This record gives sequence, C-alpha cells and structure tokens, in this order.
Amino acid sequence: MTLAGQLRRRLRDVVGDEGFVDSAAGLRVYECDGYTMEKALPELVVLPANTDELSRVVRLCHREGVPFVPRGAGTGVSGGCLPYEIPVMIGTSRMRKIRRVDIANRLIEVEAGVVNLEVSRQVEAAGYYYAPDPSSQSACTIGGNVAENSGGPHTLKYGVTVNHLLGIEMVLPDGEIVRLERTNDITGYDLAGVFTGSEGTLGITTAATLRLMPKPQAVTTLLAIFPGIVEASRAVSAIIAAGIVPAALEMMDALVIEAVEAAYRFGFPPDAGAVLIIELDGLEAGLEELCGRVEDACRQAAASEVRRAANEAERALLWKSRKRAFGAMGRLAPNYCTQDGVVPRSKLPQIVEAIAEISSRYHLRIANLMHAGDGNIHPLVLYDDSNDNEAERVVAAGHEILTACVKLGGSLTGEHGIGVEKIELMSKSFSDDDLSAMADLRDAFNPTGLCNPHKIFPTDRACIEIKRPRPRGGG
Ligand SMILES: Cc1cc2nc3c(=O)[nH]c(=O)nc-3n(C[C@H](O)[C@H](O)[C@H](O)COP(=O)(O)OP(=O)(O)OC[C@H]3O[C@@H](n4cnc5c(N)ncnc54)[C@H](O)[C@@H]3O)c2cc1C
Repeated sequence: MTLAGQLRRRLRDVVGDEGFVDSAAGLRVYECDGYTMEKALPELVVLPANTDELSRVVRLCHREGVPFVPRGAGTGVSGGCLPYEIPVMIGTSRMRKIRRVDIANRLIEVEAGVVNLEVSRQVEAAGYYYAPDPSSQSACTIGGNVAENSGGPHTLKYGVTVNHLLGIEMVLPDGEIVRLERTNDITGYDLAGVFTGSEGTLGITTAATLRLMPKPQAVTTLLAIFPGIVEASRAVSAIIAAGIVPAALEMMDALVIEAVEAAYRFGFPPDAGAVLIIELDGLEAGLEELCGRVEDACRQAAASEVRRAANEAERALLWKSRKRAFGAMGRLAPNYCTQDGVVPRSKLPQIVEAIAEISSRYHLRIANLMHAGDGNIHPLVLYDDSNDNEAERVVAAGHEILTACVKLGGSLTGEHGIGVEKIELMSKSFSDDDLSAMADLRDAFNPTGLCNPHKIFPTDRACIEIKRPRPRGGG
C-alpha cells in the first residue's frame, strides 16, 4: 500500500516537521523492535506531541482506510510494533508529560511516552515508587508496559502492570478519545483491564494513571550460589512452599553468569553452575528471621554459599548485573534471540532439561535467565547471523522450547507477548473457538482491523498457518 501524497501532507500538518519521519535513514530506526529476526519498514512515522494530535492522526488513517501501528520505545521482544504491511507508525516518544502527582491518593498520571523508571524518579523523594520494574525500565514506556501488561523481577510479590493501573486515556481506532477508569467506580466491565496486554490491537494509550507504593521499610538482597540449575530450582520451590514470598526470586545459569561477570565484574564465583538473587522486603521487624529461613532453604538445596549484599552499592551492582544481563550477551556471541515462556515453578528442572536437549540437537548455545519465582523462563539463544541458516534454526529451537513449556502445563509468554513471533504457536494453547472469541473482542474495539493488524492471531479468526514471509534479519 502506498500512501497518497495528500494524506502524507495532512499527517505532516498535524504533527509538524518535528514529528514527521519519512527519510530512508530515519525510517531504519523503526524497522524492528528487540525481536530482530524480522524487519519491515513503515512508509512514515508520526510522533504526535499530545493526545489531540494523536487522535487527529488516527482519524485521518481511519477515514482513508490506512493501517497503523503504535510504538513506544521499541524494546518489545516479540515484534509487536513490526510495521509489516502497515504504512503508518505512530510513536509516543514526544508524549512525556507528567500530568499529575497525587501523593495523598497515592497515584500519578503520566503520558504514554514516559519511561517506566521516570515514574519512580518523580516520587522517590516523597518515599514512593512504581512497582512494575521490567529489566528494560530505563528505556521502555508506560504505554508499551500497558500494551504488554509488563512485569519484572519484583512482580512475584507485587504483580504486573494491570495490578497497578488505575485508569487509561486512549484513542480508539476511529480516533475517538476515551477514558477508562478503575479508581473508585468499579461498575460495569473492567475495560481498562481488557485493554491491558492487548499489544496495541485495541487502540492507543495516550496516558495512564498508576498506583504508587510506599517504599518498604527494609530490604535485604541475597545471592545464593549453586552447583547447577536443578539445585537452584529446588531452592525456589522450597522457599515458596515455606510460605515465603520474596519481592524477587531470579535465576541466572553459568553462561549468563559468565557474560555478566565479564561485563560488570560483580564477583560471581567462576565455577557457579547457577545463582539465585533473592530480595526480601517489608517491615524491619521479622526480616532477619525471614532471611535466615531463606538461607537455610538454599543450603538444604545444596547452595555452596549464601551472601547478603553488604550495602546499597553492592545491591545496586547485583541488580545491574541481573537487569542488564541481556546486554551482556554480546560478550558470548554476535547475536542472540530472547525467548519467554512459563512453566509451573515445580517444573523448572524439566524445562531446563528440555532446553539442554534442544540446545544440543540444534547445535546452539542457550543461556538461561529466569524470573524463577514466577516460573517465567528467558532462554537466550546465542547465534551468529553471518552463519548460513543459523537464524532459521534459532527460530525453530525457540518454537520447540515454547512448545515444551505448554506441554509442561505452562504458557507461551510470561511478559513479552505474542506479537508476530509466536503467532504460529497460538494453536498450541488455544482452540479455534478460543481464538475466535478473542477476535470478537478485538473487533468490538477495532472493527476495521486497521489498528496493528497481523498481530497475536494467526489469521483474522482461526488458527491457520500464517502466510507472512519471514524476512531475514540480524539481531
Ligand atoms: C533488555 C530487555 C529487558 C526486558 N525485560 C522485560 C521484563 O523484565 N519484563 C517485561 O515485561 N518485559 C521486558 N522486556 C520487554 C519490553 O521492554 C516490554 O514489553 C515493554 O513494555 C515494551 O515497552 P515499549 O515502550 O518499548 O513498547 P514497544 O516495544 O514500542 O511496543 C510493544 C507493543 O506495545 C504496543 N504499544 C506501544 N505503545 C503503545 C501505546 N501507547 N498504546 C497502545 N499500544 C502500544 C506496540 O504496538 C507493540 O505491540 C524487556 C526488553 C528488553 C529489550
């Protein structure tokens, strides 16, 4: 589809030169998100400065029957904002206003393009923070977080985006601006809840009202070192079975440890087979006893050592090592592809075994990073895109891992969404009737299908193999 010159001019009139990108070099920036296996260029990108501009852009696309895709920071890792056969991309990077900080009512209203970490920065002096903390929090936007229902290391105890969302302002696919509230009035359907996790297929969030949490009185962060992943998994099950809910319970295997140690020099032992990062928080009273119980559970599961972060600087470095682990993968291979699946926590050893078998069968090294407390695994498949057929093998290996997750009673995604990456796998988890019911819901908001088409669902309604070509791209 080639956009008519008149529509281009009108879109430019709405957002001005500052918010209009159509040069070849400028568009390259938008050809993919963090899922770099597939790429496509939009014809143009518009960056509205406010809700009114964004609504006018969407109205124009709606009137002309032109597909469009929302984009935040592009840190998504399933190709949710891939502009495949979508001429217009609508970015929120200029919508960064903090509209309201209301400490008395423990809420903040921000525009969709505000970066996740900025929300906590705005309120930290008052002793508050925003709990959902994706590892990408220094870059990803609140609009993207709502679209993906994002979580993070601390969502084991505090929940994901939907648990902290008090309302959204959004532009429907025909350009109408609506507000969906969840603050005091819970009458009727929870439409903001429906919208959360819809991956940009129901409309575009322009602002969100978020719950603020008081910072915990005390925090202790532990590092437990294990001979291997099986032993570390046993400790995870034992901690949860003991009725303890840590604020975070993260696992890294030997390959991840090798990469992060090379990058950040925390001081992980070179022979560690796996480590757990365990954070406990709450009232000062009782925290020491809780730490002791967690340390005992780790030692009983064969931990060779359990250390506590000695001070805030050590704790920050430990979290930096964990949260920037994806970035450290460049120490191990020129390219990697992040997978994201879920298994019941007790099945972590089985999925690790399955991943090892897939790794050896495909001759691909796979590093394992996990939000272990949630059973949310992130195998990082390492490869070199300059090797023939390696990218294709990475995709196939990733699909086998996710299929294994589903067979173990888990699911296709814990937090990264379906996007384009996992479309073909939807039939592993859902029947045609299930998918059709979900498509009915999408059609109620997005009847023309112009808002982010070719995402989540294999076809319009049923589970038939997708016909989209997979362009080859480096990661
Ligand atoms: C290093 C790294 C670590 C990560 N760690 C985590 C993690 O711990 N937890 C986690 O959950 N995710 C994680 N992610 C994935 C990603 O950061 C999240 O999905 C994030 O919420 C995406 O935000 P974004 O602004 O980059 O959205 P984008 O990538 O731009 O878009 C993601 C999807 O949301 C849609 N979208 C974007 N903005 C809007 C809007 N305003 N309205 C409607 N739809 C919109 C897009 O169309 C697309 O479908 C990680 C990614 C990376 C690269």
